[in-house]
Amino acid sequence: MPAIRTTRLPAGVDVPVLGQGTWYMGEDRRRAADEVAALRLGLDLSMSLIDTAEMYASGGAEEVVREAIAGRRDEVFLVSKVLPSNASRQRTISACETSLRRLGTDHIDLYLLHWRGGVPLAETVEAFKALMAAGKIGHWGVSNFDVDDMQELARVSNGVQTNQVLYNLESRGIEFDLLPASQRASIPTMAYSPIGQGGFAGDDRLAAIAGRHGVSTTQVALAWVLRHEGIIAIPKAVRPEHVRANRAAADLVLTEADLAELDAVFSPPRRKVPLEMI
Ligand code: NAP
Repeated sequence: MPAIRTTRLPAGVDVPVLGQGTWYMGEDRRRAADEVAALRLGLDLSMSLIDTAEMYASGGAEEVVREAIAGRRDEVFLVSKVLPSNASRQRTISACETSLRRLGTDHIDLYLLHWRGGVPLAETVEAFKALMAAGKIGHWGVSNFDVDDMQELARVSNGVQTNQVLYNLESRGIEFDLLPASQRASIPTMAYSPIGQGGFAGDDRLAAIAGRHGVSTTQVALAWVLRHEGIIAIPKAVRPEHVRANRAAADLVLTEADLAELDAVFSPPRRKVPLEMI
């Protein structure tokens, strides 16, 4: 199997364009062993970017990640997120330290503001810089930021490494403005819910293309997200066959005819669409 393509963060770090999500992991201890095994299988298959957050299962997902990366920390590019309610100067630092304890590591590679809240951006960025200076995070970024938020952020700092946003065949609004603006600024976009939270499984609208390539409809949806340079997709999968299928989708190249067929069903945006969030 070829290596997963990489993309470069503004700081010069190369990361794989396909990683692993963890939302809904850590909610039930009885499922933890399967969740840990899935993440470890993903690492075996070079999906070495793991995305988590203090919010997921109130820290439970970070604990699952700790088990998954135990003894393999060096293989992993670890992403976690601070809640906007914790995004003040002091609370960002303590939230990060709590995440580090749950993750069983001394550093998070990329630490994101989960979405915008009431704290001034400059204050959160100041906390991120202090965490970087202390070696507790490698880099920082944001999530759920629309074009105007990114413009405001650019006036505060040029250190942002990614913007993690909803992007899949059913939610294409960012193609109108946010995605091209991020591409111009060389800021990779991290696509969350890239397979529509599992909603493209068995989708008739994707069946013909899937049939032509001998893959599943979900794999078509994932390959479609990955078709652009500078997009990182982070599907979440617990079932091992899903992990393997997602890895294989990174090698699937859709044709111009496939893309045109998809545009006919899932229309690209023709005007500004406010950023969707889930
Ligand atoms: P998703 O990755 O689009 O979909 C996950 C669902 O799809 C799960 O039910 C999974 O089932 C299923 N699945 C995975 N691979 C499959 C395959 N090959 N074929 C069929 N079904 C498959 O949804 P998501 O979890 O919402 O998004 C991904 C990650 O993005 C999250 O886990 C989280 O890390 C991040 N996220 C961030 C934000 C934010 O605000 N920043 C918001 C949402 C999500 P199994 O688990 O049973 O295998």
